[in-house]
Amino acid sequence: MEWKAEKSRLAAAGREADAIVSRLRLVAPIDPLAIVRSEKPFLRAGGGDFGDRYDGMLEYHKSKNRFLLFYNTKYESEALPGRMHTRTRFTIGHELGHYFLNHHRACLMRRKHPHMSRGEFLTDVVVEREADSFAASILMPTHLARPIVNKAELSLHRICEIAEQFNASPVSATFRCVSLSDFPCAIAGIRNGKVEWIFPSEPLLKAGIYPNRDFMPSNAREPWNDYQNGLGDVSEAEGWVQDWFNIYDNEDLAKIHVTEEYIPVNWMGTLLVLLTMDESDVFGDEEEEFEDEY
Ligand SMILES: [Zn+2]
Repeated sequence: MEWKAEKSRLAAAGREADAIVSRLRLVAPIDPLAIVRSEKPFLRAGGGDFGDRYDGMLEYHKSKNRFLLFYNTKYESEALPGRMHTRTRFTIGHELGHYFLNHHRACLMRRKHPHMSRGEFLTDVVVEREADSFAASILMPTHLARPIVNKAELSLHRICEIAEQFNASPVSATFRCVSLSDFPCAIAGIRNGKVEWIFPSEPLLKAGIYPNRDFMPSNAREPWNDYQNGLGDVSEAEGWVQDWFNIYDNEDLAKIHVTEEYIPVNWMGTLLVLLTMDESDVFGDEEEEFEDEY
């Protein structure tokens, strides 16, 4: 599917989630089971340890005109005291996406087999990515998260604090923070020894700095080797915009400093890299522009 069409479908799924959280007047950390309860009696949820079979499942029972949402509690033993594990929360959010998004629900009501899901951000199928986008927005709704995210430029430290506040997983919080950021930044995914994808913030694109793929910046080689050898820990380096992005001959952008924060994520098989830069390096100093004009 066309990249832009997919992007707008994912954004629409996120907006649907935002609207539900607003309508129910929920506050952070969002309780996804409160959303389930708001749909009684058409939706009911139940947790159980389903081992490796699935993380979540949504089933439509035609005779009762009722949806049943099952979520795997196998991660709960690792949860913080008094809190539901972030992966369980994400799973419930994902299944809620299949329930609330009209074309997903219609599809479930038509077919015989229930829908099963596994993990977060692990699939390339668009409907699954829509449900992931819905889940990420349920846990960090735009109207609650955006003002907090944009208090300052992003850093891994800030993202972890925000993830904690919203009881979201650090990985889903990283994607969500980048997508809500008013600053030029991006998250890159390294797999099989090369950058497989880069997810940019809107201001980064506005600056004319575009994602690149299928390359390997020299700074990334050591963190990638460490990651492969199981030594992977969070690390930091400094690079240039030209190391990571496509700037289409706009040489002014090439030597802008980029802070690279490497985040090994074993269950994803991916070395994530948070890429941030100084806003004034990218857009210039507004005061100077002011002086130029007058
Ligand atoms: Zn799914």
